[in-house]
Amino acid sequence: MRTVADMLAGIDAPMPNGCNSLGRILADLDSHQCRFPLRGDGAATRFCAVEVSEADWLPGFAGRSYCTFHRRLSEGRGTEAERAAPRVLERLA
Ligand SMILES: [Zn+2]
Repeated sequence: MRTVADMLAGIDAPMPNGCNSLGRILADLDSHQCRFPLRGDGAATRFCAVEVSEADWLPGFAGRSYCTFHRRLSEGRGTEAERAAPRVLERLA
C-alpha cells in the first residue's frame, strides 16, 4: 500500500504492466479511464488512464473509477480504528 509518506517523498505510485508510464492529466482523460493519481499536483496531476471495463466502472463508489490493478491496490485492511468499528457498534447496540 502506498502511504502518504511515500507521496510526500515523491515516490511514484506502482503501475500495472503495459500502463502508459506518463499518465494523463484529468482534462485529457476519456470516460472509463483509471483516475488513480500517479504524480504531480493540482491541474498537472497525472492519472493512470488505463481503460476500465464497463462492468467495473462505477464512479462515486470506492475504487470503482480505478483499473483492476489500482482498485486492488486501494483495497487495504483499513486502519485499526476502521477494523474495530464493527465491534464498537456492537457494544453500543
Ligand atoms: Zn490504474
